Order: sequence, then structure tokens, then C-alpha cells
Amino acid sequence: MPGLVIVGAQWGDEGKGKVTDLLAERAEAIVRFQGGNNAGHTIVRDGEEFKFHLIPSGILYPDKACVIGNGVVLDPRILLGEIDGLRRRGVDMNNLKISANAHLIMPYHVLLDTAGELKLGKLSLGTTRRGIGPCYADKALRLGIRVQDLLDEKILRAKIRTALASKQQALRELSVQRRKLRKEAGEGGVAEGAIEDAPDPRIDLHTMTEEHVNFGHRLEPHIADTSRLCWDVLDAGKTVIFEGAQATLLDLDHGTYPFVTSSNPIAGAATVGAGIGPTDIDEVWGVAKAYATRVGAGPFPTELEDATGRHMLEKGHEYGTTTGRERRCGWMDLVALRYAVRLNRMSSLAITKLDVLSGLETLRVAVRYRSREGALLDTFPYHQSILHSATPEYEELPGFGADLRECRGADDLPAEARRYLDYIADFVGVPIRLVGVGPGRDQVVWLND
Ligand code: GDP
Repeated sequence: MPGLVIVGAQWGDEGKGKVTDLLAERAEAIVRFQGGNNAGHTIVRDGEEFKFHLIPSGILYPDKACVIGNGVVLDPRILLGEIDGLRRRGVDMNNLKISANAHLIMPYHVLLDTAGELKLGKLSLGTTRRGIGPCYADKALRLGIRVQDLLDEKILRAKIRTALASKQQALRELSVQRRKLRKEAGEGGVAEGAIEDAPDPRIDLHTMTEEHVNFGHRLEPHIADTSRLCWDVLDAGKTVIFEGAQATLLDLDHGTYPFVTSSNPIAGAATVGAGIGPTDIDEVWGVAKAYATRVGAGPFPTELEDATGRHMLEKGHEYGTTTGRERRCGWMDLVALRYAVRLNRMSSLAITKLDVLSGLETLRVAVRYRSREGALLDTFPYHQSILHSATPEYEELPGFGADLRECRGADDLPAEARRYLDYIADFVGVPIRLVGVGPGRDQVVWLND
């Protein structure tokens, strides 16, 4: 399995971190290829919980290269915080490598993200407001600042100056907006989300340049030509895992636009975001929960706003790693999963959190949608208006009462749980290789291994 991509098959938070952590045992390098510090992976190792926002979960292995690829956008302040935090917990950071071509999330990106969301009001996308969208926008506009720019003060200053110039109008609008918010909040009060009035030292050219030169000094030992690193490992016949953040249905091109992330989390993007060729990829693993969740706004056909949804939320502990927000919960959507399987051309599936479903008498899986006009849809509709109003039609399967957390082999699983898994695998035509039965790293059942 030299080139193996791991992607989220739903709307994110599927437990990719744990699956990556398990498969990483067999790899030489683990590479993140897109997204920013809006990703949250939680890994439980020997009872200790680690939360990662930017650094690939492979960092817990001291002997493996752990790479932030060129397709990632990174906030150096947050990255350094994460590095320091892990170091304090005794994690060896020497193997962390950062692509010199990755783009930097600058303080003005964070401000503009907040400004954009405030402006949209009720129509806001529910972004994590970390500046990721504006950073990718600058990359496409060729106004971005890259990691390598941190190493040359003159270039850095010139690039920040140019990037800032094009944002004056938006930043001015932001300060007007702030004043309005403050007024609405009443005298003396500051509305939620408001930021203090300009001049904001965070976006002062000299302060920013100085601060970032400093970040550069601290990051320099980690900065590398990470594509070459991947080629060398692959050419030696060893395994590289390409770890996606977010998930297929949040893909900028193929997800439920505009309620998506600003990058491409699908498997094909691993080539661009890590600097490898398509034929370097040998396997694609999709990670899906045994049910479905979604954070933020956007269509979610199988959403449940009842006791079953509450069961999933509470038992599955469905709160965002990065934001703490409650996740929306619902039944497994096989129409959407089949779409994800094809988009990524998955070769294997990992189904996580099966343990969360125990105690539900009947399990449902969406097998088709019905449009508002009554048409039956077997495939994921390309038109957003149809998806927004589609209602799912379900297949019902018997539930299981048993606690699965101690299951370690296929035979330990109740027959109803196996039937549920078989139904999913048959429907989407991809073998399930791994089943999660608890957050711990040993709480898994390997199948078809
Ligand atoms: P990621 O971003 O896809 O890695 O997902 P997160 O880390 O945000 O969310 C997954 C959460 O589910 C974490 O808290 C994991 O510890 C937990 N988790 C992963 N697999 C399982 C599982 O099989 N069962 C249960 N109950 N929790 C799991």
C-alpha cells in the first residue's frame, strides 16, 4: 500500500484521526494535504487524549515523518502553540516537516473571515472564522504569503504590503460594521463577535512583519521540500499516508456548495496538496460514522431532531473538536455515501462509532431520496434546490442492545450489527475493513484484513 489516502466520507468528524493513527503504524510518512486549523482530530492513546488542529496525527510516532503539505493553509501562531503544547507533553517534534509552499493564514484573513460571516447574517456559512477561506482566496489571487516567505524579511514585508493594500476597503467596512454592532449592543456593551476599533495592531505592517520573521526563525528547522520527501519514501517502496481534513460532502467543488470548506478534501486532491502524481496512489480509505453528523449550516437530508438524534449527540459525544459546537445528527445516508465512494473511488471503508447505535431498537439507512415533486432519486442530486428539499426514504434494519465496546473480532459483534455493516458494504460496493466500537485505539474490529 505505498500511497494510501484517507478521506472523510460524510460531513467531517468521522474519526479520521483514529483511523490514520492505526494505519500509520504501517507507514513511513503521514502527510496532510489540505485544510487549515479548522480540522480537529482527537486521538486517545493509553487513556490520554490528544487534540490536533493542524499537525497530522502521525506525530505521536517518533520514527515517522509527519508532514504539513503545500495544500494546507496554516496559521503560524496556532501551529507554534500546537508544537509547544505537544512538546510539553513529551512528544518529539523533530520529525515535523512543513512545506515551504504552504500558505500562511495572516491576521487580516481571520478578521476578514469574521467580517464576511457577520455580513452574511442569517445566511452565514457557519465557518470556524479561522481565516481559512480568505487565505485560500488570496492564494488563488496570487496575493498569498507562503511559509518560505518567512525566511526573507524584505520579501515578506513587500508581500504583506501588497496583500494589505487590496483589503483596505473590506477592512474599512469591517470597522464600520464593528461600530454598528457596538451601537446595537448599547452603550458600553460590545456585541458578540465584535472586535475593538482600528487602528488594529494585529494588522499593522511593521508589527506583522516583525512577528512573522520571528515565527520564521522558530519554524525554520521544520521547513522542507516535502514533495521530494514523499517521492523518496514512495520510491523506496515504503508507505505514505495522505490524510485529508474535513470530508467529501464539504468539498469545494463536489460538496454542498456554498456550505463547504474552501479546499478539496477528496482523494484526488492529495496529488495537488502533497505534490505527487495520481499513479502514486494505490489505496483510498473512506471513513464514515455508523450514522451521520454535520456541523454548521447546509443541507442534511437525514437529520433527526428527535430523541434518536439526541441519543446520537449524547452517546456519540457529538461536539466539535475545534469549536465545541453541537453537531447535527441523523441516520446513515447511503445515497450520499455512495456518491462519496465514487468521487474518491474508495477501495476500503472504515465505519466508526458503531457502539453509539447500541440501544436503538430499529436502525434506518437512507437508500433513496424523494424530491418535492415526488420523483424518486437514487443518486445524489446535482442541483442544490432539489437536495435542499429532498426527503430520504429509509430501509429499516433491526438494532442491537448489546454494548459493543469490548468487541475485538467480527464474531464478537451481534448478528444485527454485522447485518447492518453488510448492508452498508453491499449497498455502496466497498468492503468495510475496520469498525470502531469506542474512542480508544484498541476499540476496533478489523474485518477482511
Ligand atoms: P476526525 O476529525 O474525523 O478525526 O474526527 P474527530 O476526532 O473530530 O471526532 C471523532 C471523535 O469520535 C473523537 O472524539 C474520537 O475519539 C471519537 N471516536 C473515534 N472513533 C470512535 C468509535 O468508534 N466510537 C466512539 N464512541 N468514539 C469514537
